[in-house]
Amino acid sequence: MISKVKESKDSIYDLSLIELVHFVDSVGEKTFRAGQIFKWIYEKGAQSFSVMQNLPQEFRNKLSEKFSFSLVKMTSQQVSEDGTIKLLFELNDGEHIETVIIPSSKRLTLCISTQAGCKYGCKFCASGIGGLKRNLSCGEIISQILYAKNIIRSNKNSRDISHIVFMGVGEPLDNYDNLLKAIRIINSKEGLGIAARKITVSTCGLIDEIKRLSKEGLQIELSISLHGYDNESRNILMPVNRKYPFDELMEACRDYIKETNRQITFEYILIKDVTCSEKAIKSLKKAFKGLICKINLIPYNQVVEFQYAKPSKQEIQDFKKRLNDFGILATLRALRGGDISGACGQLRHK
Ligand code: SF4
Repeated sequence: MISKVKESKDSIYDLSLIELVHFVDSVGEKTFRAGQIFKWIYEKGAQSFSVMQNLPQEFRNKLSEKFSFSLVKMTSQQVSEDGTIKLLFELNDGEHIETVIIPSSKRLTLCISTQAGCKYGCKFCASGIGGLKRNLSCGEIISQILYAKNIIRSNKNSRDISHIVFMGVGEPLDNYDNLLKAIRIINSKEGLGIAARKITVSTCGLIDEIKRLSKEGLQIELSISLHGYDNESRNILMPVNRKYPFDELMEACRDYIKETNRQITFEYILIKDVTCSEKAIKSLKKAFKGLICKINLIPYNQVVEFQYAKPSKQEIQDFKKRLNDFGILATLRALRGGDISGACGQLRHK
């Protein structure tokens, strides 16, 4: 569904190429014009129809009457010592979301929000503290990327976005249809042209949607926020586990790998005295047996509302080594943007 913005126009960013083809056809224009418009928006970064000089003037007028280039509105920008940039956006209805630009030596990653707030209330994550406000439209998801691209373009030494991760505010698979529509625009050669393998969707473990995703024929990366090592520990940290228990989630992951032939990455938070015990190692070893996967260890990032603490460097390294010794491919996620509350679990919608 196309979302309405101020002035009751539809956002052009809400349209897939095929929807634009239908519109173009419905106003009596040649359908190849849709491809031209997409090229202007996604390749050249156009933000008005007036610059689209290869379109007839009368047609541009029609487009302007019907559609707006409603971008999310940036209300603040923070730059971390490590180069990470956190953008706070206000949506047309006054809700807020955050988007993070994460440069590294080999890639430029954009971390995107898919909802204003989140209803899953994981016990280490700032995004879920205020509950869910609403889903983002496809256009609002796309707008975050286009806005970030403009910021990146203004820095002449910067390269273009190479990777997109849906790990910002919200549970992506809880906004399934808008997420998938946005992914297809991001991935298509007429759209942003970012390879599916460079797009990662993270989920707290919505089994029904994981099954649905496995049938989409997309080569995207799937990342599961596991964070507990068995049913009991996951119940404490992630209330969603009461609906989708640990063992059923692991079974769904096995099915996903079989169906898609893709590896899954598991995200696992390291909280002192909570998730990095000997019991955790043994349980993870059992859960991951025979599974083609990677486990990404994320040392807990401080959120003032929660009482948890980060383990010591030694404890973190020991935990990683123990997993590797058991044949589980474990990597340690580098802390990025921690000084601007832009790291994992620290993003908010306020
Ligand atoms: S970790 Fe993800 S699912 Fe859990 S509260 Fe945060 S945004 Fe929501």
